Amino acid sequence: MSGKEMMLGSVKEALSYGADTFMLYTGAPQNTKRKDISELNITSAWECMRAHGMKDFVVHAPYIINLANTVNPATYEIAVEFLALEIERTIAMGSHILILHPGSHVGAGVEAGIDRIAQGLNEVLTSNQDCYIALETMAGKGSEIGRNFEELAAIYDKVIHNDKLRVCMDTCHLNDAGYDIVHDFDGIIDQFGQLIGKEQIALFHINDSKNERGASKDRHANIGQGTIGTEALRYIVHHPDFIHLPKILETPYIPSPEDPDKTVPPYKEEIAMLR
Ligand code: FE
Ligand code: FE
Ligand code: ZN
Repeated sequence: MSGKEMMLGSVKEALSYGADTFMLYTGAPQNTKRKDISELNITSAWECMRAHGMKDFVVHAPYIINLANTVNPATYEIAVEFLALEIERTIAMGSHILILHPGSHVGAGVEAGIDRIAQGLNEVLTSNQDCYIALETMAGKGSEIGRNFEELAAIYDKVIHNDKLRVCMDTCHLNDAGYDIVHDFDGIIDQFGQLIGKEQIALFHINDSKNERGASKDRHANIGQGTIGTEALRYIVHHPDFIHLPKILETPYIPSPEDPDKTVPPYKEEIAMLR
């Protein structure tokens, strides 16, 4: 989402990789500076999507939103306000899924963090809104909440309109949090099913991991270059239970073959590899 084309640019970029869906940030992921909805170029973006048979896309909220912060009330206030606007933007752009990192408790403890996250979600979720918040499974680095299914289930329990919640499964994060998705993906899905419900999975982030299982680190690797490996990721991507769900790559840019000082996106090759 940049320049004059904005959302149309995102669609064109996704098409250039051979993708049939994509994820975007409504502006820079590190800040909350956002353009007005009227400047996002939504109509032309959808014309282009329709012309190429693209039916959906998802939105990721910026990283700096931290609903779990009980230590600094201003951070929480900003997070709630921004999240409400981000829901509006997601709906205006024609997506139904807004991905959110649950948050970090920054020292106050998991329980206090979960209470605050639920409080924040209760401020923004309404019964009739046409947009789900997909809580992402986290690696557990620092004081991140959402490093296991129990924590996500606890958030569900405290949210009034929890029918508006969904989950985004991130393969790198699951691995780094300690889930053995390489050898027991189906077992892990069963665990998730018992705690939250398999049908609550709205999408996958498909990333390899630079770290061993359980490292609590969160460093994404290119497909086949990490500890998860192509075979396990291909199994997940082609799993019959999730075949209709969006799968989004968040793998790092790679050095350009022409100019090693530059980096280029790996997505075209990685999509082809996984297909
Ligand atoms: Fe994320
Ligand atoms: Fe992710
Ligand atoms: Zn990550």
